[in-house]
Amino acid sequence: MTRRATKIVATLGPASSDPAMLEALIRAGVDVVRLNFSHGKAQDHIDRARLVREAAQRAGREVAIMADLQGPKIRVGKFAEGKVFLEQGQKFVLDAGRTELGDIEAVGLDYKALPEEVKAGDVLLLNDGLIVITVDAVVGQQVHTTVKLGGELSNNKGINKQGGGLTAPALTAKDMDDIRTAMSFQADYVAVSFPKNATDMEMARQLCNVAAAQYNHKPGLIAKIERAEAIPKLLEILLASDGIMVARGDLAVEVGNAAVPALQKRMIKLAREHDKVVITATQMMESMITNPVPTRAEVSDVANAVLDGTDAVMLSAETAAGKYPLETVNEMAQICVAAESGEGSKLDADFIGKTFARIDQAIAMGALFTAHHMGAKAIVAMSDSGSTALWMSRHLIQVPIYALTPKVVSQRKMTLYRNVRPLLMGAVADRDDALRDAEQQLKALGIVASGDVYAITCGEPMGAPGGTNMLKICRVS
Ligand code: PGA
Ligand code: MN
Repeated sequence: MTRRATKIVATLGPASSDPAMLEALIRAGVDVVRLNFSHGKAQDHIDRARLVREAAQRAGREVAIMADLQGPKIRVGKFAEGKVFLEQGQKFVLDAGRTELGDIEAVGLDYKALPEEVKAGDVLLLNDGLIVITVDAVVGQQVHTTVKLGGELSNNKGINKQGGGLTAPALTAKDMDDIRTAMSFQADYVAVSFPKNATDMEMARQLCNVAAAQYNHKPGLIAKIERAEAIPKLLEILLASDGIMVARGDLAVEVGNAAVPALQKRMIKLAREHDKVVITATQMMESMITNPVPTRAEVSDVANAVLDGTDAVMLSAETAAGKYPLETVNEMAQICVAAESGEGSKLDADFIGKTFARIDQAIAMGALFTAHHMGAKAIVAMSDSGSTALWMSRHLIQVPIYALTPKVVSQRKMTLYRNVRPLLMGAVADRDDALRDAEQQLKALGIVASGDVYAITCGEPMGAPGGTNMLKICRVS
């Protein structure tokens, strides 16, 4: 298989939960599996996490599991007939007090505070903006509206307020339970939905760390940027997280579709500059939910996210509920590879005016430069936690980075890093033994061959976290 730098996140669902399909998807190139906690019960996720680990083992590849919390997504309740068709111009009531099932005139709400947070004139978007209603009046627990743009509204579809401004905290009681569930199977990443500031992320981190303490586990935290209020707070949210997701679905509804592409570029750039990872998500290959080939526009969208420098591109319903999950992953992988070949290194521009206080970071950057300018075959980072590989991967170069770690949890976490292939190695105490073992492993995997030059970084003494202090340039004998 051609080497691909950009990673693929695929959402698990009915279309991809069969063990054979899951294994095929991982073989086709899925690097991170997203468990969407908006659907299913705790036990479903526990079972699916086990299926993922087993399928990865059969496929001979580590994949990370990302637990995506539901967050305070505001939804309409259920309808007596499962759905209604709202006509333009008709009246419709969102009723927080309603206990019976919905009909063509009114529906219940799971978010009881909605009537207090909207006023006459507000625009509400249902079902990802496919239906638009405006608020006429708030009467007690009822929000009276007029339908401006009609369409089919089915059970539990989401509600967004144009421009944002709903105050729900990012972590609901359900999210807190779900964090405990996700930590019981040591999810590698936890994605927090609708954070509006750094405090939301800090709270999530604390809950994760407490729930995972008994396993001595620390998941990576991803902030989903999908609320209008998160945009002015982008930097503080980013700094409180390990990465962000450009969650274009809800974000587009809140800030308007047209604002999203420029925000995507800004978010990707900002994340990389601060040594954070970034996932570009939602509707990337949407038409492949029902068609065996993507549209030209989708191909272009995926390719542009790659050229923007995203670590990963994400599939949602395409792999969770689509007709062609495997074809979608194959197509997406090809688009990534082709787009990557069109980009050059921007190393020099990245470093103008930069200084490094840390020895390990300076070594990482030295390895990048040397490998790039020598045309080395590979950069190899021997790293416990993977931070050396993370720093290296924040710069776009054509030389592949291989991260050798003795820890499977680090290996899994690094599956999300662009241009990093994480490999497991035995823990070796002696530096020279470790370097020799590393070269043997690289040769055995066909990564380097006799005559090839590679750059390798390690720490002396071995195994001290943050201890990388050595760069060696080797020619394979
Ligand atoms: P979701 O998040 O799929 O959980 O809604 C992604 C998005 O809003 O784009
Ligand atoms: Mn969302």
